[in-house]
Amino acid sequence: MKVQTHKMTVSIDDQSSHLEAFKEFYKQLDEQGKTIEVLPRNEKEEYQLQAVNATLAHVWKQNQYYRQRLEAAGFEEPRIDHLEQLSKVPMLEKNVIRGDKEKLLCVDPKEIGQVHLTSGTSGKPIYTAYTLADQYVYDLLPKYLELFKESENDVAAIALPYEFALPGLGFQRLFQFAFGTAVLSLGKGGYMAPVDKSLELMKEYQATVLTTTPSYAALLAEESEKFGIKIGEDIQLKKIWLTGEGCSPAFRERLEKWWDCEVSFFYGSTECGVIGVECSKHKGYHVMEGHVKLEIIDPDSGQVLPSGKTGEIVVTTLLREGMPMVRYRTGDLGNLKESNCECGTTMDVLQLRGRMEHMLRLGEHDYSPFLIEHFLMEIPEVGLWYHLKLNQGVLTIEAEKFRTTLSDEQLATKIKQHMLDRIGVECNVVIRDDIPRTFGKAQRVFT
Ligand SMILES: [Zn+2]
Repeated sequence: MKVQTHKMTVSIDDQSSHLEAFKEFYKQLDEQGKTIEVLPRNEKEEYQLQAVNATLAHVWKQNQYYRQRLEAAGFEEPRIDHLEQLSKVPMLEKNVIRGDKEKLLCVDPKEIGQVHLTSGTSGKPIYTAYTLADQYVYDLLPKYLELFKESENDVAAIALPYEFALPGLGFQRLFQFAFGTAVLSLGKGGYMAPVDKSLELMKEYQATVLTTTPSYAALLAEESEKFGIKIGEDIQLKKIWLTGEGCSPAFRERLEKWWDCEVSFFYGSTECGVIGVECSKHKGYHVMEGHVKLEIIDPDSGQVLPSGKTGEIVVTTLLREGMPMVRYRTGDLGNLKESNCECGTTMDVLQLRGRMEHMLRLGEHDYSPFLIEHFLMEIPEVGLWYHLKLNQGVLTIEAEKFRTTLSDEQLATKIKQHMLDRIGVECNVVIRDDIPRTFGKAQRVFT
């Protein structure tokens, strides 16, 4: 019995890709009624070793930059004997590929089917080129049926940018091709994507799934009240997938309450594609080990850290022909542990700890803004829009009231005390009622 058939499969002419062999691997899994999510560790690692070696052989043959780096690191042939040896492969730094369209390209430019680029908040963009087979064949080989419950009975509203970056189109393909789910391409922030029309469409087509950023999920909920659309009645979601900005567990729970449905995190990037997904236990991200091999390194020394230690996340993509990422330093912080999750998934569990450059120095310690957000969102009278402002080591929290009769002063005192109790930090609190809403990436931290 097959566990899942794709709604539609694409065949691409004249494929002689290094990834063809993995079609057979996944076909056999299908025939055994299994997914990679439940494979025993040794079988999964064997797959990952083969996929890493296939990728190394591909980049060695097709790409001068990768080849030179491997040779300079002492590789005489593009292979490793076990996964730990991946640490001998040189890492890929963002600044090396920023603004460079060809450095990592591993196919004839005529083979490129889609180009994406990062939003480039700092410096020049990073260009990522995909072949059609990357996006419509190989990317869809691994299935994660424990993690994704969507089916052709669902209607998925995608409120993510469709321009430049990967998220909108990436989810669109996933829902349509892998699950057969109807898609409402709401977009986010573009002039064709007004909030009232987006909500109206979700209501008309009875959307059951919403994929968006944490701040936009908050904005949609808030705006629905203005437009007289009742969440839980007019729009009854089963699931929200959050991606793009990251947020704290408490923020996620606030959205669960407001939208009256399960809310889960999805971690991915335009450069690396899918990386991790939260299961219904919400104890971290299961690494999508069919697509990526993750390592955690000490950002200063570059050494691989042991299980459970927090450091920089390094990603190697396993199913890419156009522009594979080999040991790509993401700049994101996290730690990785073997799974003993009750959901039964054997894929490693990743805890995200925010981005390196976003840490807030308070007193002796660095704090992730998400940690501060988490404690702030534990206070039910605090709204979902806030600012954290750091000035000469002093934190000022600007917050809004949420459905409360507390006075500004009472709420400010409550926040101050709560922060002192939870993280031992004295902070200033300003209660505002005019924190700007945004259609773009919410800026909450000012330093
Ligand atoms: Zn789990």
